[in-house]
Amino acid sequence: MLKLTFQSFRRSSKGFALSSSRRSDARFKWKRLHSPSNFMVMRSMMSSTQTATTTSYSVPREKVDCLVIGAGVVGIAIARALALKGREVFVVESGSTFGTVTSSRNSEVIHAGIYYPRNSLKAIFCSRGRDMLYDYCTKHDIPHKQIGKLIVATRSSEIPKLNDILNHGIQNGVDSLRMIEGIEAMKMEPELQCVKAVLSPVSGIVDSHSLMLALVGEAESHRTIFTYNSAVIGGHLEGNQICVHVSETNSLKEWNGTSTALNPDLVLLPNLIVNSAGLSAPALAKRFTGLPSEVIPSAYYARGCYFTLSNTKTTPFQHLIYPIPEDGGLGVHVTLDLNGQVKFGPDVEWIDSIDDISSFLNKFDYSVHANRAERFYPEIRKYYPNLKDGSLEPGYSGIRPKLSGPGQPPVDFVIQGENIHGIPGLVNLFGIESPGLTSSLAIAEYIVTRFLG
Ligand SMILES: Cc1cc2nc3c(=O)[nH]c(=O)nc-3n(C[C@H](O)[C@H](O)[C@H](O)COP(=O)(O)OP(=O)(O)OC[C@H]3O[C@@H](n4cnc5c(N)ncnc54)[C@H](O)[C@@H]3O)c2cc1C
Repeated sequence: MLKLTFQSFRRSSKGFALSSSRRSDARFKWKRLHSPSNFMVMRSMMSSTQTATTTSYSVPREKVDCLVIGAGVVGIAIARALALKGREVFVVESGSTFGTVTSSRNSEVIHAGIYYPRNSLKAIFCSRGRDMLYDYCTKHDIPHKQIGKLIVATRSSEIPKLNDILNHGIQNGVDSLRMIEGIEAMKMEPELQCVKAVLSPVSGIVDSHSLMLALVGEAESHRTIFTYNSAVIGGHLEGNQICVHVSETNSLKEWNGTSTALNPDLVLLPNLIVNSAGLSAPALAKRFTGLPSEVIPSAYYARGCYFTLSNTKTTPFQHLIYPIPEDGGLGVHVTLDLNGQVKFGPDVEWIDSIDDISSFLNKFDYSVHANRAERFYPEIRKYYPNLKDGSLEPGYSGIRPKLSGPGQPPVDFVIQGENIHGIPGLVNLFGIESPGLTSSLAIAEYIVTRFLG
């Protein structure tokens, strides 16, 4: 029964449209795959169509068209874009569902694209992605709001920096940016204290989970298969063919941490493979034998903690409020979610790397210690002097997948194809930190335009 369903899926994905009944078949199958034991289901389907290629691994092997590693917002957006182009897409995700790592641990801000170096990928994708995201959210009824943002100078010595930010944003083509006097900003936001501010009316907020849900649903209805609890653990080259090693996440949990060799349960032979494993992308790339090590950037991790506001009956702010950016992040800012809850953060705390397998299992330390609030109060009170003692409660944290360390200049998104590393069909995404959520649809558009033959 499963074999039949899988084979009919394969036949249907050769380029002609699915009938509605077949579409619901695909959805039904996805639901079956979307269960804790779905790796076993996938493996049994795959072994039933085992190819006869010679291999040094005595494990099932299967040709697939497009393979996306990681079901964060970027991987999901790429899977959807590939599927909309009529390609057969598999998404392999080590977690038990989509979007459980950085994509659900961020500020959910739709960035305007002000800060990033001109013509950088961050600037280009942020601006294009922002427009695409507003459009997508409107069309698909995804909760979002263009609430606007104020970047504030809290003392006159910060005004030159604020001018630079304004000029930079204008050069990046951000619409309607303007400098306003402190008095005007404080009229808009009575709890705010500042001497001047840059108003960015195009900035907003989005419900990232609803966004991912909609993208997954659309990808799925175009025959994408999401396989959870399944981790890519490495790969090797056979001629020009990249062979991708997949293992059940559960079996990684038994790994003793001493040997680098792990045996795959399944080998996939994709035409196109996109490594969008977020925090784990560089560690995973190092496990692809044949990929030149010099093209893989060093990974750095900067945790950002959030605190929520308690003991307050009314929401103190209606706009996003950002201080002048700091080294490694945008500063402890005010973010609102769509329920009006206020959160402050994220701060920047450089943390050590963890071993590859722990990173595939997302065993990063996300704890938010209550004593970090002591550093938040003075930062926040620079622009929100009425913040009451004891009103900050630990919220959550996220970890920025960075390519530069403390004190080093920021590094752009890295998207590598064959022209960089020499391996046909492999696309690596490295350093997809903020504004990755805003940029997700634009990154997907770029991958499809640039890497589909
Ligand atoms: C504190 C913070 C605040 C941020 N705020 C904003 C913001 O306001 N606006 C904005 O635009 N951006 C923001 N960002 C950035 C944004 O959240 C990220 O750029 C985006 O979520 C990255 O998505 P992703 O799909 O690349 O990565 P992820 O969401 O991390 O997804 C990667 C996926 O790969 C899976 N995976 C890992 N290893 C393997 C493996 N070996 N095999 C299979 N699967 C694997 C993981 O389980 C995970 O699900 C923020 C980031 C942080 C940390």
